[in-house]
Amino acid sequence: MLFDPRPKEKRKDIFDREQEIEMIKNSAKEYPITLILGIRRVGKSSLLKVVLNELKSGIYIDVRKLHFESGGWITNESLLKAFENGLNSLNHPIKRELFQYLKRVKGVSIAGVQLNFEPEVSLSEILEALNKRSKIVIAFDEAQYLRFYGRRGGKEFLTLVAYAYDNLPNISFIFTGSEIGLLHDLIGVSDYESPLYGRIYNEITISPFSRELSIEFLRQGFVEARIKIREEEIEHAAEILGGIPGWLVEFGYNYIKTKSFENAIKGVMRKAEKFLEGELRELEKRSPRYILVLRAISMGFDRWTLIKEFLESRSGKIPNSRLAAILEALQKMSWISTEYRDGGKRYKIIDPVIERVIKE
Ligand code: ADP
Ligand code: MG
Repeated sequence: MLFDPRPKEKRKDIFDREQEIEMIKNSAKEYPITLILGIRRVGKSSLLKVVLNELKSGIYIDVRKLHFESGGWITNESLLKAFENGLNSLNHPIKRELFQYLKRVKGVSIAGVQLNFEPEVSLSEILEALNKRSKIVIAFDEAQYLRFYGRRGGKEFLTLVAYAYDNLPNISFIFTGSEIGLLHDLIGVSDYESPLYGRIYNEITISPFSRELSIEFLRQGFVEARIKIREEEIEHAAEILGGIPGWLVEFGYNYIKTKSFENAIKGVMRKAEKFLEGELRELEKRSPRYILVLRAISMGFDRWTLIKEFLESRSGKIPNSRLAAILEALQKMSWISTEYRDGGKRYKIIDPVIERVIKE
């Protein structure tokens, strides 16, 4: 169902995106490394899961979940566990075939159709075993969180990826990221200190829907649910929700439940608030000024001097270098973007729903 708010895994539940799905699929076959970029709730995880299901030989690892479950750090143990789970949820024929190779790896045991890793298992040996079969895709969702693996900002992990890149042609990696600047920093192919320096990767960006496509998506969803809604309401919703599929779905889902435009929009805002809570708490830990800057921009203080005044009126003097660092970090995390207008640089909150929630 189009208005099912859970991440989608089947192509029939995905509206549009045929081209993106083909691009990701081909890229996974042709490139050792694929990056899928796009803002939060634009549909990256859904598209990734559809592709992995269709390729039938993909391992899915949710890095954000690993990060939160292991209290802020990603341990080798939790990464091994994620690999183990990913391999155990593969389809039968492929799984059996891979087990032939995996059971020879030290520390791997197999009981029936379940694989078990002892803590001493080496990931590079696992990858070598996986490489013995034909193509396998290993996907890391929200991969920017891999910077919390190991003591060197994820470098130990990237060394493993670089090793696979150079020696294991049957393995390809997909990394997705909502925090686009952070993911680029992590991968660091143009940073000569990065283990992946100089390697080639393919980048696919998932964009929000255009206004027309958003309207079409809503129409189709309501037809599918056999619910009548006025055309103006569909257009108005498309405007407020900025073409972000996650919010469009949430709107449709709430409208079906409440049959009221206002309540459906309120439902989206409540969902966005809940979603933001955790993320803003993380930001606040780093510094309450992140939140103040976001609030300033959401209220229309969109230039450097205005943001600075707003901030100083609330939390005292702030050096220019500090404000510059905060703005840069917010950009790298894809909260804000910049544009040049009327001869000056303007800051903008990328997601209009989040902008509304922060403003309140
Ligand atoms: P991301 O991983 O980019 O944050 P998700 O894949 O989790 O985004 O998508 C957010 C929600 O939006 C999903 O739960 C799914 O229900 C919905 N969604 C995303 N893209 C589509 C699409 N093309 N068609 C239908 N629903 C979609
Ligand atoms: Mg996701």
